[in-house]
Amino acid sequence: MKTCIYPGSFDPITYGHIDIIERASKITDKLIVAVLNNYDKHSLFTVEERLEMIKDSVKDFNNVEVESFEGLLVDYVKSKDAQLIIRGLRAVTDFEYELQMAQTNRELYKDIDTIFLLTNLKYSYVSSSAVKQVASFDGDVSKFVTPFVADKLKRKYNKHIV
Ligand code: ADP
Repeated sequence: MKTCIYPGSFDPITYGHIDIIERASKITDKLIVAVLNNYDKHSLFTVEERLEMIKDSVKDFNNVEVESFEGLLVDYVKSKDAQLIIRGLRAVTDFEYELQMAQTNRELYKDIDTIFLLTNLKYSYVSSSAVKQVASFDGDVSKFVTPFVADKLKRKYNKHIV
């Protein structure tokens, strides 16, 4: 059985991520969306909140699981008995960083491969950081995230909403 890992911050999950998840789930037996619990990186949402939003977004895909992990990605991949990492590419600007990460991971664990899926043109400009910026000014994020996530963003930036 082939297991693929799709790691990321997902702060929060966008339609761009969901598109990658949907396509990746079709080319593997099991896909694990893995949220990096990175204490260094300043995140808007807690890991638990991000997991909840991803779980809601992928509930219709029956071979997709959602987990969080800490530490080195290669160690996590090994612990899942997996050998494939999925990453998305939006533009050339993503490429250099992704190439470096993929090569580093292969140096650390030679049986690992990274598969890159090109962004759906429709979502090529969508990023979690742009979504947060729009939401912080109470802009309409409905084209970028699910209604569930849009609601969480609203609550985060308007703390008086109950
Ligand atoms: P990171 O893992 O670098 O913190 P993210 O959590 O935002 O970044 O993204 C996880 C993965 O999803 C990365 O490979 C990123 O390039 C990809 N990704 C993010 N947004 C999109 C999008 N709109 N289309 C395709 N891939 C995307």
